[in-house]
Amino acid sequence: MNHAAIRSQFPLLNRQQEEQDYPLCYLDSAATAQKPASVLQAMDDFYRQHNANVHRGAYQLSAAATAAVEASRDKVQRFIHAAHRQEVIFSHGTTESLNMLAYGLEPQLQVGDLILVDSAAHHANIVPWQQLAQRTRAHVQPLPLNDELCLDDAAFNALLAKRPKIVALGHVSNVLGTVNDIAALTQRIRAAGAISVVDGAQAIAHLPVDVQALGCDFYAFSGHKMYGPTGVGILWGKLAQLDKLAPMLTGGEMIKHVSFSGTTFGALPHRLEAGTPPIAEIIGLAAAIDFLIQFAHAQSHQYEQQLLQQLRDGLAAMPEVELYAAHANNVGALAFNIRGEHHHDVGALLDQQGIAIRCGHHCAMPLMSLMALNGCCRVSLGIYNNEQDVARFLAALQQTIALLTEDT
Ligand code: PMP
Repeated sequence: MNHAAIRSQFPLLNRQQEEQDYPLCYLDSAATAQKPASVLQAMDDFYRQHNANVHRGAYQLSAAATAAVEASRDKVQRFIHAAHRQEVIFSHGTTESLNMLAYGLEPQLQVGDLILVDSAAHHANIVPWQQLAQRTRAHVQPLPLNDELCLDDAAFNALLAKRPKIVALGHVSNVLGTVNDIAALTQRIRAAGAISVVDGAQAIAHLPVDVQALGCDFYAFSGHKMYGPTGVGILWGKLAQLDKLAPMLTGGEMIKHVSFSGTTFGALPHRLEAGTPPIAEIIGLAAAIDFLIQFAHAQSHQYEQQLLQQLRDGLAAMPEVELYAAHANNVGALAFNIRGEHHHDVGALLDQQGIAIRCGHHCAMPLMSLMALNGCCRVSLGIYNNEQDVARFLAALQQTIALLTEDT
């Protein structure tokens, strides 16, 4: 891999800094990844040369837009190894995909049903289940974590024995970078007769995702975390499961026949894609997949893991730093605090040195409360980061610690 060549494809990372003393050091890819020029170009080309609505026009421009959207569906299918193209549903992002599930599964739920949710989950994989439980008088129960802040195996088994209806897991924690062994967990979930839902938002750019090998019923992710645009995401589901899903949105595009005496819905995938889709974003997502598949996964993974190790070692060497759940097989992100200091002060002082990291509760308040924290700092990596970024961050953090401890 030619790392300099990869980085040079990201215009934002190479922009000229104005009125700032430091060049940007972007370490917040878990919030959103920067976009390569090919993604920007694909979207620009669409609007400049090919803009038309899909699935309706009788003219060539519309047929071409439709073909581009459907080709993008095929590309996503191959990228995640889905068995059927109709299993790939376009949404506007992970949050919408998970809400589509929480609405769509409602008719299958009964009073008293149990929904198990990963305690480390992002709010997008918690709140929709709570809302579903409120509407159906089902119960949500958190899946406990062990001392390593990973799913507690014994507790998982014990809760599965209660015959839950749905089990919602994260693939990779957006705070800690910890990984759930989805293939092993879904086997047990299936044996318990429950539906498995996996939030892949933080996995999709870092791990090879083969939905058939993972064995889950549903898998959700966002385009913008995998070098694609915001405003587009995917809900993948097994055909038989998607078939049973009630559409959250109804209207144009998703119907077979409409009359005032009754409406019939169309077939998958369109049944779950009401309204005009985010066409340019879907085309941008295809360009992002083309960008990602240039790299042999083993190589890019090894490179990211080296950077993560450099980060871990650097942070572990600072006595003022408290590192959280920094396991060797974590992916993409690392969480920490400076003992006795507020995470926002750390973030603000790093920002003054051109370093962009995320500080706060990271949309994972239940995890923060399990960790007895009101927030933490998170550094996260993308394919464009390099050793200099990590070294700059570590040096700036030393400087920050010196400044903060001088104050007190
Ligand atoms: N789940 C996880 C694990 C995430 O990291 C995020 C984004 N921070 C989401 C869900 C929500 O994704 P989006 O905002 O793109 O809908």
